[in-house]
Amino acid sequence: MIFNILTLFPELFIPLKEYGIIGKAIKEKIISLNLINIRDFSKDSHKKVDDEIYGGGPGMLMTCQPIVDSIRSVKNNKSKVIYLSPQGSKLNHNLLTNLSREEDLILLCGHYEGIDQRVIDLEVDMEISIGDFVVSGGEIPAMILVDSISRLVDGVVGNEKSVTEDSFYNGLLKYPVYTRPRVFEGLSVPDILLSGDHKKIEEYRKKESLRVTKEKKIRLNR
Ligand code: SAM
Repeated sequence: MIFNILTLFPELFIPLKEYGIIGKAIKEKIISLNLINIRDFSKDSHKKVDDEIYGGGPGMLMTCQPIVDSIRSVKNNKSKVIYLSPQGSKLNHNLLTNLSREEDLILLCGHYEGIDQRVIDLEVDMEISIGDFVVSGGEIPAMILVDSISRLVDGVVGNEKSVTEDSFYNGLLKYPVYTRPRVFEGLSVPDILLSGDHKKIEEYRKKESLRVTKEKKIRLNR
């Protein structure tokens, strides 16, 4: 899986590229992160990438030319171009599962007041939002996408069960989990988890998963 990140701030992705599960998956060549600076494609003599908005209004807008050229520099017939946008489809587990089956994603990070509508009309296959609120740039939403998609790519998370037992994977939230000590500030680990009876533990966890899901009233789209 290749993630092509189109951004004005590629350096923001360096920690993601070098540390943790994503860093390891890149080193093991399971995924790759291709950072592209949109400004490098600007044909303006001052490398300008934004301009005032036609019709007036606050702020600046990212212009068409550098974005379209940067997209076309990496796009191939397998690419899916995603614009991170508060106006997009809201991210959820189902959407991530579908995206994890793609081979080549181009993630476009907007800034300022966003991007010229004609970039969307010409080049974008899908707009994705991380929620009904606005953040200052598409970089954090793109990082969320890279991390959450990668977890669903085979081999990225060492123990496959870590993923298949995660919340949402089977439409339920994960059961409560505990580690040492057995008693902390008067609260004990449930006896069944110390019993060594794996069948009973599994049954207990299934029941707890159902209870937690119902109690937290999460609406899950299967
Ligand atoms: N003026 C735009 C609007 O009202 O729709 C918001 C622009 S926002 C300040 C700048 C950039 O941040 C956007 O172009 C987009 O790439 C990113 N962004 C902001 N909120 C987002 C969200 N909820 N999900 C995904 N990307 C978001």
